[in-house]
Amino acid sequence: MNFLLPTSCIGCKKFQANSICDKCLNILKCNQVHRCQQCAIPCLNKQNICLSCQCNPPAFDSTLCLDSYGGLLTESLHDYKYHGKIALARCFANTWQAVFNHEPSLQTNIEWMIPVPLSIKKLHHRGFNQAWELCKIMSMRLNIDSDPFVLGRNHMDGDQAHASREQRLTRLINTFRVNPKRLDRIANQNILIIDDVMTTGATLDVMAKVLKDFGAQSVHNWVILRTPL
Ligand SMILES: [Zn+2]
Ligand SMILES: [Zn+2]
Repeated sequence: MNFLLPTSCIGCKKFQANSICDKCLNILKCNQVHRCQQCAIPCLNKQNICLSCQCNPPAFDSTLCLDSYGGLLTESLHDYKYHGKIALARCFANTWQAVFNHEPSLQTNIEWMIPVPLSIKKLHHRGFNQAWELCKIMSMRLNIDSDPFVLGRNHMDGDQAHASREQRLTRLINTFRVNPKRLDRIANQNILIIDDVMTTGATLDVMAKVLKDFGAQSVHNWVILRTPL
């Protein structure tokens, strides 16, 4: 089937059978070295935890990303998220497995995989939750339970662009709500959050805070792209 239906590499777009070519895969693997274990930001000083995480530790315990935002997967991610090419979720999942298969498995103690939720308004607008499409495929492959209804998200009203950092943070905290029917999927559980892009990490930090307030034992993030600060 791969021969009959060749695709193109999600990195360099060259026509070929696999989701990603060997050359692009090698670039992604090389980019993995020297990232902060907690927030996945590139750490030039070879420390395991970056200075920012040391001074202001986020609520989540670890983060893995495939690559930096602006790198070779950025265009494919835009096609996936903004142009409705949902089939690319499988290509990202294939690439994830190719990059991290050799790593010691974090997934062994994970009980639940959950996506970063979208508000109903945004879901209607986009037509799909890009994080949930990735989460579904990855959870099936890893044989870990997943649930998109653990956390809900209210639409953030108001002018975000001109809001202060504090105003945005307060709004963000009020954005997520725990589903009362899913409390058993949070308390004493190790939870893995899936998202497409991590920018400042504020959203994932707030989600981890909420989950830990309700008793989560640990919270980890897997994101496709991480914005270098
Ligand atoms: Zn390539
Ligand atoms: Zn960090």
